[in-house]
Order: sequence, then C-alpha cells, then structure tokens
Amino acid sequence: MKTLPNPADYPYIGPELHIQILLIPVMCGRIFRRCFVNRLIIFANILMIAGEMEEKQKRYRASARAFAEACRVLPGGVNSPVRAFGGVDMGPVFVAGAKGSKIFDIDGNEYIDYVGSWGPMILGHAHPSVIGAVETAARKGTSFGAPTLAETALAQKIIAAFDSIEKVRLLSSGTEAVMTAIRLARGYTKKDIIIKMVGCYHGHSDSLLVAAGSGLAESAIASSAGVPDSVAKLTVVVPYNDIEAVKAAIARHKGKIAAVLVEPVGANMGVVPPVADYLETIRQLCTADEVLLIFDEVITGFRLALGGAQERFGIKADITCLGKIIGGGLPAAAVGGRADIMDILAPTGPVYQAGTLSGNPIATAAANATLDILAKEGCYEKLESSAAMLEVGLAEAAKEAGVAVTINRVGSIQSCFFTDRPVRTFADVQSTDIKRFKKFFAGMLGRGIYLAPSAYEAMFVSLAHSTDDIERTIEAARASFREIGKEE
Ligand code: PLP
Repeated sequence: MKTLPNPADYPYIGPELHIQILLIPVMCGRIFRRCFVNRLIIFANILMIAGEMEEKQKRYRASARAFAEACRVLPGGVNSPVRAFGGVDMGPVFVAGAKGSKIFDIDGNEYIDYVGSWGPMILGHAHPSVIGAVETAARKGTSFGAPTLAETALAQKIIAAFDSIEKVRLLSSGTEAVMTAIRLARGYTKKDIIIKMVGCYHGHSDSLLVAAGSGLAESAIASSAGVPDSVAKLTVVVPYNDIEAVKAAIARHKGKIAAVLVEPVGANMGVVPPVADYLETIRQLCTADEVLLIFDEVITGFRLALGGAQERFGIKADITCLGKIIGGGLPAAAVGGRADIMDILAPTGPVYQAGTLSGNPIATAAANATLDILAKEGCYEKLESSAAMLEVGLAEAAKEAGVAVTINRVGSIQSCFFTDRPVRTFADVQSTDIKRFKKFFAGMLGRGIYLAPSAYEAMFVSLAHSTDDIERTIEAARASFREIGKEE
C-alpha cells in the first residue's frame, strides 16, 4: 500500500536552501580553527534554514493537518486520486473557496488557478450568473426525478452548438457519458470491439481502464485491479497520433469493431494536439468500415469552440461525449449524436441507460447559465488571446533561463513539457523531464500559481483570467525556471 506524503513532511526547499545546507559541512571544518566569524556564519545559516523550513511548513500547515485527518476516513485522503498531489511528491492543499481566477486554501494562501476544477470552470469560479441560476433552481427543489423544461432547453443548446448532434441524453459524469456511448455503439452496430488510444483518458469504466496488449492491434489488458480480462480484451489500444496503427487495428479486427473512441485533442497526457489529417483519416476509415466514431469531448466540448473540437477541426463524430463545462461546475454530462443512434436508447430502444440524478435541476440550471454566456460573442476570442499571451510568456521565460520546454497549446488548454523535442504521443510525454516539472510545480505553488499537480495534465485558462493574472503567472514562471536553470 502506497503511503502518500503530506506538505509538512515535504516543505519546498529552494536552491538557496540547498546551498546553505551544503555550506554547513564546509563551515564545520573551519569551526575547529576557532574562527569566531565562521561560527557566527554557521549559526546564522542554521537559523535561516530553520526559519525558512518553518516558514514553508507554516504556509501549508492547516492543509497538512487536514490531509492527515482526511487520510483516516478517505482512501488516500481524497475522493479522486490525482487530488492527492502524488505526482509532485507533496501533500495536497485543501481548498477553502474560489472566486473568478483565484482559489484560496485553508491556510489563507491565494493562488491564480489554472486547474479550474480540471476543466469545467471556463467562466471562472462562482460566476454571478451561475450562482444566481443555482440559487433560483435550488429554491424550487433540488431533485424531482421527472422531466423539466430546463432539460429540454439544455439539450436544444447542445444540439445548436454541435452539427453532429441531433439528440442528447443528459447524465451526471464524463465517465457515464463515455460508458453510455460505448454501450450505444455496441447496441447500434451489434459489434463488440472498441479501439482507444494510449494516453487518452475516458473515465473509469471497466472497458477503458486498459493498457495496450503485447503487440500492435492486439486486445488490451486491464490497467486497474478489479477489471476482468474478459472485459479488457474487448478493447484494442493503439498509440495516439498513429494513423497506421488505427488502420492495422481495423484490418485485424475487421467486422468486429463497434467504435473508434478518441479525444480529438489529447488532454489527459498534457495537451497533445492531433497531427495533420489524423482525425480526418480516422473519420474516413470509420465511415468506410461501418465503425462508429466517438469523440470524447468531455474536455474539448465548449472549450475549444462552442461546437468543441468538431467545430475547430471541421469533423463530425457519430457520437459525442460531453461533461465538465456543460455542468458549469456541477455534476452534469451528456452523450449526443445522430437521432437514429440515440433513439436506440431506452425507453425508445433496447439499449438500457438511466440515472436518478440525470438532468438534475440545479446542475441543469448551472449548465444553461454557462452555455448562455459562452454563446455570447467574443468569449472564445478572449480565451484564445489570454492563452496565447500565457504561452508566449512561458516560452520566453523558459528561454531566458536556458530551460528547454515544448509548449503545446490548442485554444485555452496548454501544457509546458520539459523537453527540447516535439510532443506528439504519450511516449513523447513520458520521455519529458518529470523531475523538472515537479520543481516547476513547487516553485509556482510557492509563488501563488496553482497548476495541476501532475506532468500529465493541462493548464486551463478561463474567461476570468485577466492580463494582470497572466503577467503575474509569467513572472512566477520566470523565477521558477531560473531556479531550475541554476540548480542543474
Ligand atoms: N473523458 C475525458 C476526456 C476526461 O478528461 C474525463 C475526466 O477527466 C472523463 C472522460 C471522465 O469524466 P468524469 O471525471 O466527469 O467522470
């Protein structure tokens, strides 16, 4: 069983501190020469080290205590693994609240937030229109388990945004959306195999917690305990951005493939955009072989454009999975697609799917309020320009410090990889310098910038990020890169 660290045990130690620690033995050698000045220097150094450690421990003291307490009652102290900060060798900061572009921890530290609850908070936190809609809805009742007008209105907005969607089923999480998409694809095609890409994440349903099999285009193996091999082997895993691998998988399993499932922009291995013609060719291959194309737009939907990656790249999927943004920060998700596919869902068709809280009135109210704002002119232009400013600033700051980075950005999602090579596949991401990322993360956190605590995640820019926020972020990055550059 893995024991996770907590922030008090892992105070961030900057380069100055390392140098001071290194000086101690040198000074100790001299102390015996009875030099009073040296003794004083040693003493001062020890005091400074202790002071600095104390300061850094103090900064996260309440979070450290809260984490210890949480670990007694929650596995790993969290309700979703990445929140434990295991990817950056620290314990998590506990959040007290958030507003606009800022998030506040329980120690009173303020951060400019680039996690945005892992994508949903495109308007920023606690947007007044969303909060207003939630309050109004809550007063009328928090759950009915019966149809409401707001659900139809939300479905209409989704259909208006996505050319490929004629009907929608509302659900509560991205995992549910992809799980339903797969069942729909299997029910519609009467075939069983799903092709997915390495490095794309689609939630935690059994069919998708799988890793590539021993050879290209072979059946997958379970990547989580508890997933039966008999389920895993119905999935074939191929590298992202490798069209030949998709062709080989389709050829090898001809006539048995229900769907190709892909994140149109890889956003769960950091941001990895599709190479030229990748999505178009997958579309053609699917059409030619009567395989359904499922776009998992849980991150990209309403993020890269109102019509998601499909609008941005001009491609239509057969089934689209949506989540995150469409809930406006509350648990809502959707699966949508052509009417002939969607109509095979119960109650009209034989594919069963249901949910007590599906179309929940509070989540639906937050969703409607969020999509109404995003439909207004200028939102995506603003997101693009803020994100571009951040990208340019980070690249310049890294260059100044002599630290090699590759920044991948598509619209308002981006990743700063510590490598001098292009990053196009999951293997490329794995070959980046994760140790440097961890230092960068700690440096940024210490300077009030909250990044995702993993080298395999995206930075999300929201409409609430101001020019001042971006400038402060670049300034923090400049100092953090400089530390990395100096240290190595
Ligand atoms: N699909 C993608 C692309 C995701 O990024 C995620 C979650 O991060 C999911 C599906 C699963 O969504 P949820 O966490 O809401 O179940």
